Amino acid sequence: ASHTIPKTMKGILIEKTGGPEVLQYKTDLPVPTPKDGEILVKNEYIGINYIDTYFRTGLYPSPKPEILGREASGTVISLGPSVSDFSIGDRVVWMGTAAYAEYSAAPAAKTVKIPPAIGSADACASILQALTALTLTTESHPVQAGDWVLVLAASGGVGGWLCQILRAIGAHTIAVVGSEGKVAVAKENGAEVVVVEGEGVVEKMVKEKTGGQGVKAVFDGVGKTTWERSLAVCARKGTVASFGNASGAVEPFAISKLSAKNIKIVRPSLFNYIHTREEWEHYTSRLWKLMEHDKMTVRIHELYSLKDVATAHNDLEGRKSMGKLLMTP
Ligand code: NDP
Repeated sequence: ASHTIPKTMKGILIEKTGGPEVLQYKTDLPVPTPKDGEILVKNEYIGINYIDTYFRTGLYPSPKPEILGREASGTVISLGPSVSDFSIGDRVVWMGTAAYAEYSAAPAAKTVKIPPAIGSADACASILQALTALTLTTESHPVQAGDWVLVLAASGGVGGWLCQILRAIGAHTIAVVGSEGKVAVAKENGAEVVVVEGEGVVEKMVKEKTGGQGVKAVFDGVGKTTWERSLAVCARKGTVASFGNASGAVEPFAISKLSAKNIKIVRPSLFNYIHTREEWEHYTSRLWKLMEHDKMTVRIHELYSLKDVATAHNDLEGRKSMGKLLMTP
């Protein structure tokens, strides 16, 4: 099918760092031209990730002006030089930059065709957060059946995948959620035990369930406010995987503290686990298997319109969401 490529498009631009108010809805952004190794994709669904807020606030530095957004799904419209694995009209999901727009130049090396049985919304809603959960549980800390593990923000995007994957491995998950209204979703996600965040409650539950041993792994995307507790509830020779900053960045820390229990700490970035083509293909094909064969699902919190991006960021940062926040251009 031929598609006339317009010169300008809708998208979200930020020119300076700040709160959600710096997200500017534009209708006259230039449609990108795909360079070597890139594909022009007409985005159908755009994923919102916590990392988008870090680039918005400046916690993670990036050049401005910038179009935010790290993932989207849609249709291949044109191919840049030396791209041979895709055809015009392919239904794809991709990870890269500048996804908060009608069109994006996606890196072919981080694009994958969506299997026919999987919808474009589900594919977009899954890719970044599910691959994060997959790599956390296989590479950051290879979880074993029977292990007790702790998952924070268990009704969230990454948390939903962590709980499902850990259940499939046969691990016992203690899930932590921020409020009573999130308990049922964490249970549906597959957590064996769910506790609502509060003074001393996580410590108490871990002690009770592990006979005072502590959990073999903590998957902590909350960061600043939970870091010390994550170390405290971790078992001797266990792992604390600190993979995010939803409450702020973890403060500088003296590594000598680890020797008290020979704890391993790891601070992974998904992008470094899917760096090579082999890694990208390995993890994306595993994701499709989890969805098609193991029937894992993604909970979509809400489908926003691109122009309501500030509301979406407020919902995510205000701990109002459970599952994936998606946008349509
Ligand atoms: P979530 O859907 O998990 O949303 C964030 C959740 O964090 C909130 O719903 C809330 O859940 C919890 N939270 C706890 N304290 C706070 C706070 N002070 N402010 C806001 N939220 C808080 O988001 P994502 O799934 O997109 O991301 C989860 C984490 O994983 C983030 O830290 C993100 O940066 C990280 N991440 C890291 C990657 C990597 O490569 N290292 C890749 C992908 C994500 P509750 O109310 O239940 O506590």
